[in-house]
Amino acid sequence: MKIHIFGSCSGTEPFPDRHQTAWALDHMDRLYWFDAGEGCGYTAHTAGVDLLSVSDIFISHSHLDHTGGLPHLLWTIRKLNSRLKKLPKYGDITVYSPQEDVYRGALLLLGNRYQSTYRTNFVKETDGILLKNDHVTVTAQHNLHMKPTEEGYRSFSYLIEADGKKLVYSGDVASPEELDPWVSAGCDALLMETGHHSPTEICERWKDQRIGHLFFLHHGRAILSNFDALLKECRKILPNVTFCNDGDVFEL
Ligand SMILES: [Zn+2]
Ligand SMILES: [Zn+2]
Repeated sequence: MKIHIFGSCSGTEPFPDRHQTAWALDHMDRLYWFDAGEGCGYTAHTAGVDLLSVSDIFISHSHLDHTGGLPHLLWTIRKLNSRLKKLPKYGDITVYSPQEDVYRGALLLLGNRYQSTYRTNFVKETDGILLKNDHVTVTAQHNLHMKPTEEGYRSFSYLIEADGKKLVYSGDVASPEELDPWVSAGCDALLMETGHHSPTEICERWKDQRIGHLFFLHHGRAILSNFDALLKECRKILPNVTFCNDGDVFEL
């Protein structure tokens, strides 16, 4: 299985060669998409990724650095569908989000005719298993990056289990502590946001845990202004650390 990084930046002002957060798990020729920051469909398609293999899109929360590319991603799939005369390989595409507004808003931008060739579904995220098929299980757990309202929790992290491997994706979190239960149980990959947290403190915090590889993404200004030196410092604490860049592909 592979991880594709389409956007590695947090919600900063634009930075050269970096777009806001989006990545996908590529397993058994199927793409499970996580967050949809600006330009993610463009980055993926121009890198040769087959967008007709997307089956599920998980949005961790409604902030624009995680959602800005959603309408364009759905539009590009539609474009490929009509140009290649092929439907998405796995049928309807499901969008998961804590708020239906994100999904409805994307469809509103796309206009009514958009739905004419392939269908999309919406699932409201709550704690527990969101998706389970023969190969992949995705479990959501709320965090407090966004304050809950009467309608429920508004931001989530994910545990992704794929054929015996465990991946944890932080989304945006109020505190790394919120991920402790999953991290202390051990994981093959941890994708951790650095927009709100110091990468060296994160490495110190989890250096004794069984983390196969720690991927930092959702970079904030602090990490971007001191990328190489900070990476060196992190690797002194925890050797298996990568600071992700847009376009990176990792085999797991
Ligand atoms: Zn963010
Ligand atoms: Zn956020």
